[in-house]
Amino acid sequence: MSALKTKIEFLKGVGPTKAQLLQTELGVFTFGDFVMHFPFRYVDKTKFHRIRDIGPGMDGENVQLKGTLRRMETMGNGRAKRLVGRFRDETGVIELVWFKGANWIQKSLQTGVEYVVYGRVNDFKGRISIPHPEMEPLAENQAKKALTLAPVYPSTDKLTNKNLDARGQRKLMAVLMNKITPEDLPEILPQYILEKMKFPSRYTAIRHIHFPKNPIELRAATHRLKFDELFFLQLRLLQLRKKRKGALKGYPFTQIGDYFMGFYKEKIPFELTGAQKRVIKEIRKDLGQEKQMNRLLQGDVGSGKTMVALMTMLMALDNGYQAALMAPTEILAQQHYQSISDYVKGMGIKIGFLSGSVKGKKRKELLKFLADGDIDFVIGTHALLEDPVEFKNLGLAITDEQHRFGVKQRSRLWKKSKPYPPHILVMTATPIPRTLAMTIYGDLDVSVIDELPPGRKEVKTIHKYESGRLRVFGFMREEIEKGRQVYVVYPLIEESETLDLKNLEEGFDSISRDFPKPKYQISVVHGRMKPADKDFEMQRFIKGETQIMIATTVIEVGVNVPNATVMVIENTERFGLSQLHQLRGRVGRGGDQSYCILMTGNKLSNDSKQRIQTMCATNNGFEIADADLKLRGPGNIEGTQQSGMLNFKIADLAQDGEILQTAREIAQRILEDDPNFEKPHHSPIKNYMVHYAKKVKGWSRIG
Ligand code: ADP
Ligand code: MG
Repeated sequence: MSALKTKIEFLKGVGPTKAQLLQTELGVFTFGDFVMHFPFRYVDKTKFHRIRDIGPGMDGENVQLKGTLRRMETMGNGRAKRLVGRFRDETGVIELVWFKGANWIQKSLQTGVEYVVYGRVNDFKGRISIPHPEMEPLAENQAKKALTLAPVYPSTDKLTNKNLDARGQRKLMAVLMNKITPEDLPEILPQYILEKMKFPSRYTAIRHIHFPKNPIELRAATHRLKFDELFFLQLRLLQLRKKRKGALKGYPFTQIGDYFMGFYKEKIPFELTGAQKRVIKEIRKDLGQEKQMNRLLQGDVGSGKTMVALMTMLMALDNGYQAALMAPTEILAQQHYQSISDYVKGMGIKIGFLSGSVKGKKRKELLKFLADGDIDFVIGTHALLEDPVEFKNLGLAITDEQHRFGVKQRSRLWKKSKPYPPHILVMTATPIPRTLAMTIYGDLDVSVIDELPPGRKEVKTIHKYESGRLRVFGFMREEIEKGRQVYVVYPLIEESETLDLKNLEEGFDSISRDFPKPKYQISVVHGRMKPADKDFEMQRFIKGETQIMIATTVIEVGVNVPNATVMVIENTERFGLSQLHQLRGRVGRGGDQSYCILMTGNKLSNDSKQRIQTMCATNNGFEIADADLKLRGPGNIEGTQQSGMLNFKIADLAQDGEILQTAREIAQRILEDDPNFEKPHHSPIKNYMVHYAKKVKGWSRIG
């Protein structure tokens, strides 16, 4: 049996208690799991700071010191109780502070002894200290001279309490590394890739990721292991895509008929943009073949995705098939229903609407019409995915604002049609970064609308503090005088729904005082309202009967009121970037100059500041998506959590775009050249893919 399958409990120095902790805190069950538990940074053990040089300017910086622990004393009481050690080198003295675990620390450290101290400088109102430093007796430190870059492993309070902090883990890892042989970690990449990329072997890379002798070794190991992760993911995604394209037949939409042409010649209210035309061509080409289309349509807010959706639906109709358009919210679905019904008025197309609020007799009737083929287009929410919904012949399913639907939900659409699955078009609400798209939608073909309809003015974005509120109200009044409309949006985050609702209600009171009836009319929409009430309020605003719309983020996606020119966002610091960009996209939809006002409190975190700066600096959704990825990391981008395929150990989509691109290209070439990895030099891939495919089965769209 490979050593990697051995339970972690049996590693020297672990035992049952620690094993339990490693399992629950780190998900490490076996030697193999632990081998793949990578450091998240490294300490350069060759460099020491002088205490004299540590000043207020170094707040937050990591430093390493060499000196003597002089005195230990407990100070303060209650919550401020702490253990303070005074640490001295030839140049000065600095305080080491522990707020927790004082007993254990006091027992394990000795005054008068020389230590190497590693930690992060903290400047609290000019008082410099190093809280919770890593301490190692100098003698021990010097005994293992070879270690110049010490790995730092992620730890938790529970682990630290059982002596499994970064240093404790480092010790265990050293023990494990001495046991592991090249046979335990066989190569998973073909020799020619290793040569071409100048990669170390897998065994070497894993050894070096834990204990690099120098930065060059570390860099090579990191590059290699990031590549491994991205390469096998891409290989799997491309394999799935290829399989589907080859095997999954689809309905051939060979006709471009009267519906499409009639609409294009007589009904379409504007000239399509170049990007819209190109994308429609791409879709048309897909649909003409006897293969199922699976296409992602990316486009910025307001780039005109709805029109592309409609024209695709017309293609389905021309070929005798039904089409479904699904949106994530009731309001958005209704708006699509409205606008599409208006666009095709007089063409004799039968359109149905289905959501959770369609009940009783109406629902029954609709379901019957759908099953009998008496409805051509159906527009609705995820209610369309439910089991009782049957189609006569669903040829096309479009999901709008895809990031709200889970992968599982999406795959349910496939089953709504026989003998072939419907063609699928997935539209995103806001752009997602390329690296992320290649990953979570890596098995789809991608079209991009990278052009806005002509005549759009950039929305001017301004940041205001609470103290500027009266000026903001004044500005709203001016715009309303000009006949325009205004949104005021409050965050609504599930955990604090009650509190948020209170915010909104207080906001409503204050705005009502400053914008009194009957001169001003105000709509209010929030998630706790009944759909019918929401719709009523929404409609009043759409018709221009109210000038101000106070809302939670229920209006975030899709809502289209071209006469609205001001978007005031309250508590901006609580919104994510893509959400802010979505909200801003609600204005700037007509010909008038529009404004987005980001209101915040006075205290802002660095993250919030950067988000606000990004918003003020650019209107381009693709740029914002990249900034978002860098700020938050891929796992936090809305809608990606459940995908599971972003749980990288070492790769980082915000940093590793180039590696990803290379990995994808190489994967593509291999699949073209040797799709089943039958050539002898591909046997490492073949062996590894067996395990890999199992591991990632959860996110297969087809499965
Ligand atoms: P999104 O891509 O955000 O879903 P929409 O489809 O809602 O954008 O379109 C935004 C607005 O732009 C709508 O009012 C729509 O009628 C308009 N529009 C779309 N395409 C064009 C075009 N080619 N020329 C002018 N206006 C357009
Ligand atoms: Mg839209």
